[in-house]
Amino acid sequence: MSDSYILITGATVISMDISNGETLNCDILIENETIKAVGRDLSLPSDGKVVTIDAKNCIVTPGFVNGHHHMWQHLLRGLTVDWSLFGYSCHLRSVYGSLYTPDDVYFANYAAALSLLNNGITTVLDHCHVINSPAHADMAVKGLKDAAIRGTFCYGFYQNPIVPGDLASTAMDPFDQAARVDDARRVRQEHFSSNDAGSALLTFGVALNEPPMQPKEKNIEELVIARKLGARLATQFSDAKLMGPDIVFSHGAWMTDSELAAVRSSRAGIVSTPDTELQMGMGTPIAWKAADLGCRTCLGLDITSNHGNDFMAQMRLALQTQRAREHDQTVQRDVRRKAADVLRMATLGGAEVMQMESLIGSIVPGKKADLVIFRCDDIDTVPVVDPVGTVVFHAAPGNIDTVIVDGKIVKQNGQLVGVDWHSLHDQIVSRSQRLRDQAGQVDMGESESIFHSLFEKAMEE
Ligand SMILES: [Zn+2]
Repeated sequence: MSDSYILITGATVISMDISNGETLNCDILIENETIKAVGRDLSLPSDGKVVTIDAKNCIVTPGFVNGHHHMWQHLLRGLTVDWSLFGYSCHLRSVYGSLYTPDDVYFANYAAALSLLNNGITTVLDHCHVINSPAHADMAVKGLKDAAIRGTFCYGFYQNPIVPGDLASTAMDPFDQAARVDDARRVRQEHFSSNDAGSALLTFGVALNEPPMQPKEKNIEELVIARKLGARLATQFSDAKLMGPDIVFSHGAWMTDSELAAVRSSRAGIVSTPDTELQMGMGTPIAWKAADLGCRTCLGLDITSNHGNDFMAQMRLALQTQRAREHDQTVQRDVRRKAADVLRMATLGGAEVMQMESLIGSIVPGKKADLVIFRCDDIDTVPVVDPVGTVVFHAAPGNIDTVIVDGKIVKQNGQLVGVDWHSLHDQIVSRSQRLRDQAGQVDMGESESIFHSLFEKAMEE
């Protein structure tokens, strides 16, 4: 097979590479799935298939990396905008999650991945806690693979109640924890034979049950299992002695300095999800404090039934919240946190948290070609005085003209490529309506008070 090339010409390139910074009027040559060269006046290859993209008036960044997301919730967008963590845990997780069929999971994951790609997010860690049967797991993986997003699918050990809203009904579910472990092993073998991020777009990880909702010994036991299964990443863990670079902590706002020191020395990662943390009472995002202490840190979107997938908005929220916090502490002559700092968290920082920094996160020859091209010649982006500032503060998802993943164009001229939107639209709307109708029939009166006392107890610990 002959090689294929993409030549991007005349762009402003924000490489996120410390030695290169940002370069005006720059070309990028992609060979198959890899960035081959970055520089001025690159010549076209003499053979092979070549696509040329004129990127005059455009800014190119690395693809964004979203370190924590629940793709399955995409069918429920807008449902949780005024909810607290209690409402989310009780209703979304324990009612809606139970109602999902395997096909619901497929369409949710497929649509969520396309939405992320549309927003320039080329890599995601999917924390999938809707695996109600082996078929659910298969369809979750298929949705991500069909959308061709890069990332790690984290098989959730969480057990939704078999009767929606009735936590006690988990005891009647034959798909119990032991069956889940067996199934996770099957999924790892069937869908992720190599589980090598260098050669496969999607890799396998495990989403452990959340530490406050289960005893510490169980949490440790689950991590040992995840490692035996060959999980590339494991999320949600709380014991310093067993930490390692394969662990990704979501949120972590209450971590102490000594816990963060253990995160740093083990090269584990921290993901802040500003929108949900600020809304739902999960504490002030810890990313900046963790980064100051030398931890690998990044951003995530988390609950997609809540806010949109606009990563620039998430960057601004993370940045401005921290600036506000620091202004409250002392009078500052200048703002300490820069737009470039948060752009780094959204790209190379995410790659580091997901242990993929040798593959993605910056625009340098040899890395995978995951790129976002922002067209910056409209009323909202002109003039471009500071390219990093334009991306973080002015660009909207509508400015994202082209997205490339693994050397393939997945969005072009502002449109996703190869997507039958009309039929997908109908699937999303009808499935969302059915889930909401079914959830509306669940009487949560007694269950809600049982859940509330359990939740309060867990939060105290
Ligand atoms: Zn989450």
